[in-house]
Formats: sequence, structure tokens, C-alpha cells
Amino acid sequence: MANKSKYTPIIGLEIHIELGTVSKMFCGCKNDPFGAEKPNIYTCPVCLGLPGALPVPNKKAVTWVIMLGMALGSKIATDSKFDRKNYFYPDLPKGYQISQYDEPLAQGGQLGDVRISRVHLEEDTGKLVHATVKAKKVSLVDFNRSGVALVEIVTEPDIRSSEQAVLFLKRLRQIVRYLGISDADMEKGSMRIEPNISLSRYVNSVHSRNVQKLPNYKVEVKNINSFKFAKNAIDYELKRHEILLEKGKTPKQETRGWDEKKNITVSQRSKEEAHDYRYFPEPDIPPMRFAKPYLDKIRAEIPELPQQKFMRYMQTYGLSEYDSEILSVNREVALWFEAAVEAYIQTATTGTEQKENVAPSAYSKVVANWIIGDLANMLKKDKAGINEIRLLPAHLAELLYLLDKGKISSTVAKRVFIEVYKTGKTPSSIVKELDLGINEDSFVLKKTIEEVMSVNHKAVEKLRAGKTAAIGFLIGQVMLKMKGRADAKTVSKLIEKLLVNSKQ
Ligand code: ZN
Ligand code: MN
Repeated sequence: MANKSKYTPIIGLEIHIELGTVSKMFCGCKNDPFGAEKPNIYTCPVCLGLPGALPVPNKKAVTWVIMLGMALGSKIATDSKFDRKNYFYPDLPKGYQISQYDEPLAQGGQLGDVRISRVHLEEDTGKLVHATVKAKKVSLVDFNRSGVALVEIVTEPDIRSSEQAVLFLKRLRQIVRYLGISDADMEKGSMRIEPNISLSRYVNSVHSRNVQKLPNYKVEVKNINSFKFAKNAIDYELKRHEILLEKGKTPKQETRGWDEKKNITVSQRSKEEAHDYRYFPEPDIPPMRFAKPYLDKIRAEIPELPQQKFMRYMQTYGLSEYDSEILSVNREVALWFEAAVEAYIQTATTGTEQKENVAPSAYSKVVANWIIGDLANMLKKDKAGINEIRLLPAHLAELLYLLDKGKISSTVAKRVFIEVYKTGKTPSSIVKELDLGINEDSFVLKKTIEEVMSVNHKAVEKLRAGKTAAIGFLIGQVMLKMKGRADAKTVSKLIEKLLVNSKQ
């Protein structure tokens, strides 16, 4: 691709994310465009842009954008304001969008290896619906989305490949979800991506941010709603630019759209400059000033973020990079895991002196294994979230405790796990109900072993001849007959004992 060529890809991203506030940005209308039963039911004079209607900013939205800025390491403005961005389009009834121009809520910051330019707050537009009514093609406008709070994140042109762009976008979505400020659902359109792309004639190392000189053009691809489309659109543009540059031409500065059916970008319009929008301060909303206690309170409310969790899981819990990554991808899973480890430590150390200096690493690996293995498979099969199931962290802790204490065998543990998952009953009650506990009657166990040994001559002979691997088969047969209600180690010892006795 272009990376290997004599050009360097220069990519920046603009991302719009709808905030999950209860009401819209400048009015009290419900913010639920995706769940609305009918078009235009969540509307009022403000979000319909009727003359004389006055906007009132949503404080929650302001708070959340500041919080996102803090999470990205941005500098938070002490003074900020809203501006009018003037343009005409049928989904924008006022003829302008209330946005932020020269005093965004947050500036600077960094996520991974990509610098953040700015983070600002604005309002979403309505939605055009192209339909056929009575055999006529018409365009309809739905204003349910009009005025929904929208955060815009703009990066510096630090990205050098489509893969790097997707990685950044995934990290950003993860942070937004951790903060709980949006579902950032690309299919629903609550997260939309606009990459701007150009190719520099200078050869830079792929990961170098220090571009000697930015190209004198850039192409923006509008409103992309999936990571895959973002990657394809970027790769398509890089190739297209390279071909033009090779012919000695400069690609046109323009805005293009992604045609997901044909897998190509198509020209939409020449790119507008900031001065085309005639920005000016919004006269109906007073400027904002943020006091330190207000900002301190927001900072204190930021939860532990994915990267911090990832590091802590490796350092404190002693997990591998692989396990730490999987467990920290999603905040719900991470909190479930942490609760299970905590409950396991509590259960295992109750009544003992050692609670104070328990190393979580002694308990975390086995918990991680159950979550990443058995539980993940069941969740995938049922397409369920970890918080939607009956199995609770405390259940897993109790199950592991029963296993540790030799009350159940590992074969039985798997079965109990499934039963708890299905019913939500505690592991011990299931063990009791289904009579799954280790059969401590040594007479029954001994008799079973004798039976197994008497019908499996070959394996017994092999074992006698010193082929120790044969014991595994015999143990398996005994466990099968005992329906898992035996301790494998005990079985192994008894087999060896019987073997010695029978020699004499
Ligand atoms: Zn409204
Ligand atoms: Mn915008």
C-alpha cells in the first residue's frame, strides 16, 4: 500500500458522538431519536427552529464533554461560549447550527499515539428520509434528532495508516463507554466518523508525527458509520491519491461520501473553509465560566479508565497481557471480574487471619480463566451481556471455594456452573439438590475402582509394566462410573494402592 511507497499518509479524524442525556441540548425534548415510534414526536419550538424560541444549554452535556476532555488529557477551558455556524440544509431549520468555534470546552490532549486538537459541544441536525409516497419520490425531514447534544472530537493529522485510525477509534469508543456518556453505537448513528486524508510527498517513518510539511490539499470523507467502512474509505483514498500524484496531478480539495455498496468514495462538494460558515457568538446564550470546585468535582467522578485497568490487572492481579486486555475491554466485564475476585478472597479467607495480606494474584488467574473460557462462551451463545445473566460474581466465588475444599470435583464444577447460569441458585444448593458432592463413602469408591480394574485388564497390565500414562484412562473410567462425584487424586492413590496389594 501507500505506506511502502514514496509517500506518507497524513490522516486526521473528526468524530461526532451523540451524548446519552435524557433531554436534548437546548430544550426539554426527549433525547431518543432511535427509539421514537414516529417521526417528529420529540419536538418543540426550540428544536424546530421556530422564530423567537430561546435555547437553554443542557448542563449535563457540558459536564460530560468536560469529563471526556479530562479523560483525554485535554486542557479544559475556564471560559467558553457557543457560536453560530451558518449554513443551509433542509435538516437544519434555523439556518445555523449552535456549535463552538474559538473557545471549545477542551483543547489538546492525547490518546495513544494520536494528539487531540479539540473537543467541543454542539447540536445534532434533523434527519432526511428519502421515501416513495404514492409512487412519487419524496424527501421527508424527521426532527426527533434535531438538537440532540453532540460532542465533536478533532485529532491532529498524526495518523499514518487505516489500521492506526481504527485502533484510535476503538480506544475512543471504549473511553466514551467507560465514562457512560454515550452508547457510541455506530449502527444507530450515535458515533460517526469523518477522516481527512492526504498523501505527503515526503517520506516519513510510519509512526513519526513530525511531518516536514503538510500537503497542500486534503480530502474529507463524510459520515462513516462503521470501523470497517472507515478503514476501507481511507485505503481507497490513499490509493486514489497515489495514482493522481504519480500522474503529476494534485488531488482536489473536496468532501466525498463513502458508497458502501460499490466500496468507493464519491465526490460531493468542494471543501468549505471556516470563513464560509460566518461563525459568530450565539447571542441567545450567555458565555460560560467554570469555577474550580465544579471542575474538581467532575475530575473526581472519572472512573478508572481501560488503560489504567489493563495496567493494574497485570501489576496487581499478575495477569497476562492477553487476559488483562480481554477483561478490560468492556467496563461491565471488568467490574464483574473485580467483584468475583473480591468475593473469592472474602469466601476463601473467612475466619482466617491472613485476610489483610492476601495477594489478589493468588485468586485472580482462576477467576479470569472461568470468565474468559466457560462464561464467555455461554454469553456469546446467548448473545447476552454479563450484567443480564443470573450467575453473579459471588456464585463463581462460592463455586471455586467448593472446588478448593474438595467438596466437588472439577467435572462437577462445570456442571454446577451451567446450572447456576441457568437458574441463579447458589452453587451449594445445586450441589445438594442434584446430589453432586464428592461421595465420601470410601466403600463405594473402592468397589467401583475394583470393578473398573477387573474389566480393564489391558490398562492394568500396562500400568504394571510401568506405563504410568495408563492410569489416566482408569481414573477416567472411575470418574465416569462415579458421575464425577469423586476426587481424581484420591482415585489415583487408591488405584496405586490396589495395584501394590494385588502384586503381593
Ligand atoms: Zn425541543
Ligand atoms: Mn460538527
